[in-house]
Amino acid sequence: MSYCPKCGNEVKEDDEYCSKCRTNLKSNVSYRKVNRRINFEWKDHDEDQYGALIGGGVVIWLGALLLLQTQGLLGGGDFGGLFLLGIGVILVLRGFIAYQQTGGYDEGFGYLAGGGILMLIGAGLAYNIRDWWAFLLIGLGLLIVGRGLTNRK
Ligand SMILES: [Zn+2]
Repeated sequence: MSYCPKCGNEVKEDDEYCSKCRTNLKSNVSYRKVNRRINFEWKDHDEDQYGALIGGGVVIWLGALLLLQTQGLLGGGDFGGLFLLGIGVILVLRGFIAYQQTGGYDEGFGYLAGGGILMLIGAGLAYNIRDWWAFLLIGLGLLIVGRGLTNRK
């Protein structure tokens, strides 16, 4: 018997999508036969870790920035812009971890795209990059192209 890798719902061998959460089952072939119980335990564990990773990372980054600012070490960089940049980096890292674990962009794509956009906006604000919109478009285009290529069966 197979189970949905995302929600643990019982699925048929040849189902393409989970009837409960609509996860694409064909893109997670190696995960499909994972025992339901173990699957759930791992998932819960991972979500806790990710929450701590992102929350802790944001707080650490904010603290580091405040420290740098009070020490006058920020240079010309804008505080808000640098903060956005850091959060973007954290989200992109989270996306890469999801990508490594699932072997597909589906799980990590939202983090990668959102983090990438935050990084570009942050960098643009922090260093007054006048053409950051152009970089944003190029980055978005690369993400879309990359996603299309990896989705090929
Ligand atoms: Zn499901």
